[in-house]
Formats: sequence, C-alpha cells, structure tokens
Amino acid sequence: MRTGKGKIEETVIVSLDKGEDVLKSLEKAIDKYDVQHGTILSGYGTLDKSTLHMVTTTGFPPEEYFDNKEQALEVISLDGIIADGELHAHITLSDTERAYGGHLEPGCRTLYLCEIVIGIFTETNLKRVDNKQDIPELHIN
Ligand SMILES: [Zn+2]
Repeated sequence: MRTGKGKIEETVIVSLDKGEDVLKSLEKAIDKYDVQHGTILSGYGTLDKSTLHMVTTTGFPPEEYFDNKEQALEVISLDGIIADGELHAHITLSDTERAYGGHLEPGCRTLYLCEIVIGIFTETNLKRVDNKQDIPELHIN
C-alpha cells in the first residue's frame, strides 16, 4: 500500500452539452487548466451512447471487455484520479432496469447534460508506475 496527503485549493467545473464526449471533454479541460494532479469530486448527467471497459478474469494477463450501448442512460457517478496530467476515470450508469459500470472510454456521449467538478491537488505529486505485471500503480510523493 502507498499513501499520501493532498490539499485541494482550486476546482475546475465542466458543463457539457448534448453530443459532447465525456472523456475527450475532460481531457481538454485538464489540458486547458494544466491540471497535473487531482481528482473528480462529482459527476452526473445523461448519455445517449456509452463505451465502458472492464476486466472479465482474475488471472494475468487480464482479459478485457468493451461494453457499448446506444440508449438513454443516467450518469449516477463519475470518479477518477489525475496523475501527472493523465486521467483514469470510472463511471456508473443506469437505465430503468439496472446499473452498469466500468472504465470511462471515448464514446460516452452527452444526451442532455453532464456536470463534473475536478479538484486540483497542490503540494502532492502523483505518478503511475507499471508494476512487474504491467499494471500502472499510483505512486504518491
Ligand atoms: Zn480503469
């Protein structure tokens, strides 16, 4: 386990309109405000198209699955960490029957709106380092 403390002094607020891609828009906002280290504090909205990525096995290398949907979906939550300018985010979606979740991929398209708040860490540096199984671990200093 690796641990560290962070301080959030500023936020970036992102409001997406119909048709905008959630991940691509977040990456643009991260670049625009030069966010090096941070976290997604809040995220919700609606999508009309989604692409999620998930692992489906417990062995190595992991087998991966991409789930694609074209339907109305509620964004229940959006979470993630920005380390060295790179976002790793997961999203939870739902329809009237069930919830879906996974790694946020390009292809999650805003239906009516999506609203997201990013917290910017100061005095904390994060980076991802591949472990011996090529899994990019989070390192804090
Ligand atoms: Zn992931």
